[in-house]
Amino acid sequence: MSDAAATRSLRVRVLGAGVAGLAAAGLLARRGHEIEIVDEAFAVPAVGTALGLFGPAQRVLAELGLLEDVRNRAAAPRSGRLVGADGRTLAQLPAGGALLIPRSELVRLLLDALPDQVARRTARIADVRPLREGADLLVGADGVHSLVRASGWPGRGRARSHGVTILRGTAEIPPPEVSETWGGGWLFGITPLPGERTNWFAVIPEHRSPTVAAALTHLRGVLGERRAPIDRVLEAARAETTLVHGMHTAPPMPWPVRENVVLIGDAAHAMAPNLGHGANTALVDAAALTASLARHADLRRALRDYAARRGIAGQAWRVGSAAMANLALADRAAPARDRRLRTLGALSPASAPGS
Ligand SMILES: Cc1cc2nc3c(=O)[nH]c(=O)nc-3n(C[C@H](O)[C@H](O)[C@H](O)COP(=O)(O)OP(=O)(O)OC[C@H]3O[C@@H](n4cnc5c(N)ncnc54)[C@H](O)[C@@H]3O)c2cc1C
Repeated sequence: MSDAAATRSLRVRVLGAGVAGLAAAGLLARRGHEIEIVDEAFAVPAVGTALGLFGPAQRVLAELGLLEDVRNRAAAPRSGRLVGADGRTLAQLPAGGALLIPRSELVRLLLDALPDQVARRTARIADVRPLREGADLLVGADGVHSLVRASGWPGRGRARSHGVTILRGTAEIPPPEVSETWGGGWLFGITPLPGERTNWFAVIPEHRSPTVAAALTHLRGVLGERRAPIDRVLEAARAETTLVHGMHTAPPMPWPVRENVVLIGDAAHAMAPNLGHGANTALVDAAALTASLARHADLRRALRDYAARRGIAGQAWRVGSAAMANLALADRAAPARDRRLRTLGALSPASAPGS
C-alpha cells in the first residue's frame, strides 16, 4: 500500500546523460524534483544507427511528450525474416509495433526535452562520494561500465566481455530486405531507417582492427559472398557511418538499490543486443523510478518499491538476451539449431495459409 502522497521535492543527482539518465531527469523534473544531471560530454551519437522501441517504451515517450516526435522520425517495419546461412527462412519475425529510430535522434529529442530547471554539469566523474553529498538521491545511469555500480556494489563492478566484435552502421540505400541472418558463429541484421535508408549490424568473432575502414574490410572478408542482400549492404557501408565495439554485459544485479543510490539502464542490466531491449528497459526503468517516488513519500520505501518492481524484470531481459545471443551465435550447433527453428517456424501461426 502506498503511503501519503509523495509531495516532497527531492534533490536528485543523475550521473549519465544517455537514454536512461535523460529520461529519468526529464520525468523526475516534471514531478517537481530538483535535478542535476552530470555527464562527461552530453554527446549526441555521431552515427545514427537504429534502436527499436516497443509498446512499453513508447508509453514512457508519451509521458515525456515525445511519442509523436519519435514516430515522425522513425521507420515502422511490419515484419522481417530470420534467415539461415544458406538463405532459407528460419522464421518470420513480426515487428511487434516497433518504431526504429536512430539512437542519435532519440538522444537529441530527450536532451532538447529536458525542462529548463534541470541543471546540467559537464564533468568526468572519478569519485562517486561528492555526488552523494547534498543530494537526497543519486541515480546511477552511467552505462555498462558504471562507476556508481563499481562504487556501491563491490564485486559486481566489472562488465563481462563476450569475445565478439560488433559492427553497426547506416547505408544510403533502401534496405534490400528486413532480416537477421544467423550463420555459424556470426550474425548480420538489416533493418530500415526513415528516408529509404538502411541500418545494419553484424556480430563476428573478436577481431581488433587499427581503423574502422580496416574493420569493414575484415567484415567484408568474413561475411562477403554468403548472401546477396548482405553483399549489397556491405558494399554501401562506409567507415564514417560505421561503429565498431565489443559486446559487454553487466554482472547479475537483482537489487539495484543501496541506501540512497539506485542504478537504472545499462548500469543495472547492460545486456547483449540480441533482443533489442537495452534502451527499452532503460526507458521503463526511468518511468518506474518516477512512479515509485510518487507513490511513497518515504525515500527508502520508494526505492524498495522500485527495486521490487524493476530488479528482476531488468535481469530477465539481461538473461534472455544472453540466451538469444548464444543461440544466434552458435557455431558447431548451427545446423541442428536451424533444423529445429525451421520445424518450429513451419508450425507457427505466421506460416499458416493466408497469414
Ligand atoms: C549493437 C547494439 C544494438 C542495440 N540495439 C538496441 C535496440 O534495438 N533497442 C534497444 O532498446 N536497445 C538497443 N541497444 C542497447 C541500447 O543502446 C543501450 O541499452 C542504451 O542506450 C543504454 O542507455 P544508458 O543510458 O543506460 O547508457 P549509456 O547510453 O551508455 O549512457 C551512459 C552515459 O553515462 C556517461 N558516463 C559514464 N560514466 C561517466 C563518468 N564517470 N562521468 C561522467 N559521465 C559518465 C556517458 O557519457 C553516457 O552519456 C543496442 C546496443 C547495441 C550495442
